[in-house]
Amino acid sequence: MIRAEFLIEGINDLASLATGPIPRVGAFAEELGRIENASLAIDGGRFAFVGTARRARRDVRLRSGGRAIDLGGACVVPGFVDAHTHLLFAGDRSDEVEAKVHGASYVEIARHGGGIASTVRRTRAATTSGLFRSAKDRLLRMLANGTTTAEVKSGYALTHAGELRLLRLVPRLARATGMRLVPTYLGAHAVPSGPKGSRARYVHEILRRTLPVVARQKLARYCDVFCEPGFFSVGESRRILGEARRLGLGRKVHADEFAYTGGALLAASMGAVSAEHLLETPRADWRELRRAGVTAVLLPATPFTSMARRRSPGREMIDEGLSVALGTDLSPNSWIESMPIVLAHAVYSARLTPAEAIVASTVNAAHAIGASTESGVIAVGRSADFAAFDLSSVDRIPYRYGSRPSAVYRRGIRVPST
Ligand code: ZN
Repeated sequence: MIRAEFLIEGINDLASLATGPIPRVGAFAEELGRIENASLAIDGGRFAFVGTARRARRDVRLRSGGRAIDLGGACVVPGFVDAHTHLLFAGDRSDEVEAKVHGASYVEIARHGGGIASTVRRTRAATTSGLFRSAKDRLLRMLANGTTTAEVKSGYALTHAGELRLLRLVPRLARATGMRLVPTYLGAHAVPSGPKGSRARYVHEILRRTLPVVARQKLARYCDVFCEPGFFSVGESRRILGEARRLGLGRKVHADEFAYTGGALLAASMGAVSAEHLLETPRADWRELRRAGVTAVLLPATPFTSMARRRSPGREMIDEGLSVALGTDLSPNSWIESMPIVLAHAVYSARLTPAEAIVASTVNAAHAIGASTESGVIAVGRSADFAAFDLSSVDRIPYRYGSRPSAVYRRGIRVPST
């Protein structure tokens, strides 16, 4: 007999994601571990039972004071894993939308002092408590949309002390929200503006000063590099990632978003866990990603907010046998906090099937941020993180654009609705 504090009933369709390899590729790309007419039991913040309602009636007993909760025919998925966010920033860039509408690109806006440079100015000027508050508010809205685990990149301070200040917020934010947050050091997000020669000085500072502290104090699990024209070259990116590897940090690459630079190939050669964006990566380079076991983290809502011509090549990459994961790319340039909206873009723009989109936003996203032992599945013993939707099946989550969960649980506790 299984004892539990909570019994969750009335689940018409449960995607447990508990069967199949991680990451899921090829024939497993749609493996959801589905259970119809399911129940869940929670004890001590963890799943104590996952199975059919019939078996639950036989096997599960509530502890005294325990509670049965009827979801009324909902569908349930694991808490989403957002594999790519630039959560930590001050202000917004709503003033750039008109320029974008009139055709200005990210690179052009940046060249005129807007874009990332304006966010860097505001982030440096912000108080630590102000940064904490704004990031926490964003996380709580992400949580209300079903995200219980997220990667968090630094990268809007671009100084030694400023980047460390951002990374030190991450454990505090995890405690304040109950979310699982994986920090990534992205000091190489852009070159800070300054006199001639400051570029080489900044790369030197990353290599010799900031990276060693990040590794020693365990402020980040990964090091990421923005490997794009006008940002960091393949050579500079390789030096930074090589040093990260030497210091025991995992590697990620912002690769081939605006132009083909060979960033994906770099990710493959540096043993990176993921290469991200990949809008301009040629097919020949996909094979290297597959061979090296690099997960393609796609941000299919970003071309939409950037008004770019390209779409994320999700369908083609899955057909090619790549491991594909999803993220919001939440940033002042593409302010997206909802994984269900990203799932809709993954289906309607990147052309993943609904099942593939759910796999890519749970187990595969957890794999891409080194969290697959904790996040992305509904299974006995795992942290009870899940989202319920008032929809009769999980494939309707991306089908209905802007779906919002009716209930979200993290560590077995229901998140107050916002
Ligand atoms: Zn990004």
